[in-house]
Amino acid sequence: MGERRVRVVLEASGGETVRRDGVFTEFTVARRAARSGLIVLVSVGLALLFVPIPIIHLLAIPMILLGGIAVAIRQLSVLGRLGPLRIACPKCSALNRIGGGLGVRSMGPRTQSCESCRRELVVRLEPPG
Ligand SMILES: [Zn+2]
Repeated sequence: MGERRVRVVLEASGGETVRRDGVFTEFTVARRAARSGLIVLVSVGLALLFVPIPIIHLLAIPMILLGGIAVAIRQLSVLGRLGPLRIACPKCSALNRIGGGLGVRSMGPRTQSCESCRRELVVRLEPPG
């Protein structure tokens, strides 16, 4: 449900591209809400760990709770998540981690820098083919 195959295109500035197949999972509204709720629960649990620690708890607890709420709100607008992949950089061939994480808020191309050579790479999702 909600899973579809995509072609992940990694493009470097000179026009070189590397393509690999990936799986994109679309989140339903219920799934987004469940993920947001889980993030709030985890941040509350994490904040509770700091209760017995004097002084640090004054700063750590509000920061963890505010951070958790901010991530939870962001999670409500996430469209879906690309399954984690390793794709070689078109320039230096080092494997880069693509996808995974908390998901994406738009299907448009996004940029990231190569984990090895630091060149800017454009990640694009295309229909399989
Ligand atoms: Zn590279």
